[in-house]
Amino acid sequence: MGKYAVFGNPIGHSKSPKIHQEFAAQLNEQIDYSAILAPLGGFSQSIESFFKAGGSGANVTLPFKEEAFQLVDSLTQRAELAGAVNTIKKLDDGSLLGDNTDGKGLVNDILSNKIELKDKNILLIGAGGAARGAILPLLEQNPLSITIVNRTATKAKALVRTFSRFGDVSGYGFDELPCKPYHIIINSTSASIDGKLPGLDSKYVNECILGYDMFYSQNKTSFNTWIEQHNNNAVTLDGSGMLVGQAAEAYFIWRGQSPNILDVVNKLKAREL
Ligand code: NDP
Repeated sequence: MGKYAVFGNPIGHSKSPKIHQEFAAQLNEQIDYSAILAPLGGFSQSIESFFKAGGSGANVTLPFKEEAFQLVDSLTQRAELAGAVNTIKKLDDGSLLGDNTDGKGLVNDILSNKIELKDKNILLIGAGGAARGAILPLLEQNPLSITIVNRTATKAKALVRTFSRFGDVSGYGFDELPCKPYHIIINSTSASIDGKLPGLDSKYVNECILGYDMFYSQNKTSFNTWIEQHNNNAVTLDGSGMLVGQAAEAYFIWRGQSPNILDVVNKLKAREL
């Protein structure tokens, strides 16, 4: 039985223990997965004692993802580019590998919903940590382009400098965003947390087949409601599937088994977790 935990502060709200137990039950495995409240300023000591006591893997959530990035012994390429670590694996030599599964979680959720990213124009709204982690996994699906639009244009342009060597990536402020058929529109801003919209003009959503809000909630998010008002044909998804998807990717990294995401997302939506 492997020993795993999620570290955060606060952590009481975390669905990760229940999600991982669902995965284990699905795959007929037994795992020990707990939620650990790491003190602010005491994250590295918490992690160290956990792995010394036989921990095999850890998830890291707010506000420790950047600290985890500094603490691990080695990084995957996607974690390095994301600048943040949400999954740690103890390797056979005892060293700690840092990974970032948030972007893969997003991609797996979209693909599980039978929506292709290949040859699509993606509009990514927002240029914070979640956007940064999503760009490389999205590019790995061979979209036609990724256009980043952000309230602070300089942050979108800085992401372009980091990621343009991997594909067609461009970045703008809202007032300079080119009009082209955006097939997939992903809201990675935190505007939905307060029920606000990020500030995109509705003329950009005409060709949209998927509106994706990374924020998740029991009710439809403000962004997804807005997309549906302006495009009858668009499917909308919120970040519940990304949450379960990032956990599924962590489970795979630790245990080499890929759990089914949709069953667990449905349970999460039905408040069964
Ligand atoms: P950050 O604080 O790093 O970035 C926030 C981004 O939102 C910035 O681009 C910021 O623009 C923009 N923004 C904030 N408020 C507004 C507004 N009112 N109008 C327009 N733009 C706004 O946050 P994260 O990237 O970490 O998280 C973003 C969202 O993603 C959150 O809703 C979070 O819950 C969700 N998330 C979901 C996950 C999942 O598993 N489903 C995982 C990780 C994140 P500016 O640069 O101009 O300030």
